[in-house]
Amino acid sequence: MIIDTHCHLDQLVSDVPYLQVDPNNFYITMGTSSDNWAQVIKLSLRYQNVIPAIGLHPWFVDNAYELQLKQLDHILKTTHVSVLGEVGLDFSAPYIANKTQQTSAFEQQLSLAHFHHLPLSLHVYKAHNAMLSLLKHYSVTGVIHGLGTSVQVAKQYLDLGFKFGVNGVVVKDNARRYHELVKTFGADSIVLETDYPNILLPNHAQPSLIDIYTVVTKIAELTGLLESEVIRITNRNASSLFNLRNRFEPII
Ligand SMILES: [Zn+2]
Repeated sequence: MIIDTHCHLDQLVSDVPYLQVDPNNFYITMGTSSDNWAQVIKLSLRYQNVIPAIGLHPWFVDNAYELQLKQLDHILKTTHVSVLGEVGLDFSAPYIANKTQQTSAFEQQLSLAHFHHLPLSLHVYKAHNAMLSLLKHYSVTGVIHGLGTSVQVAKQYLDLGFKFGVNGVVVKDNARRYHELVKTFGADSIVLETDYPNILLPNHAQPSLIDIYTVVTKIAELTGLLESEVIRITNRNASSLFNLRNRFEPII
């Protein structure tokens, strides 16, 4: 059993109907705007091993974001959703124009996470200073998904109680920052993810949920742990961050 802490299964449904979902694994699947929240919740009702996360992703913050946040709050009050994501800040070129709105939308979602006691799955790109200073004002926790940054920046997230999500980028030979993070902080600081369908492994024709096993192999190589230990430790991390213990207590 492996916990894939960050994937986009709603995209799987429209591409390859249900084929890849392994009944032995758990999947935390991301909602990114009101366009797919219902689909994400529907998947989680259909599959016991699919855990829904919903949130307003920084790429989808537009002029109607206040309305979306009202809907989000309503869903959080009335459903079993227990993870807030994918949310965060992205100040890279295509999205920087939206910086003010993004920051406001994100702060409001931090308040929701705090109020509803929800762990976060965070997207952070070119915005680490802003992110770190916001996180310090809220007592929240969760995962920085796909973190590829310096050891110094990563340490600040870890000090706040966050873990970082490692996906197929780590398999690439030139992903030196990722390798350094994994070697420096080890499996105790990591959770596993595919970010399906956004990461294509080298020499693969298409992204797949089973790519998570390649990620495990690479982390084992970098840390000197057995693959079974990598799985056990990262499952334990994900389980405690996302409050999943009662879902599979008999399995681990
Ligand atoms: Zn994602």
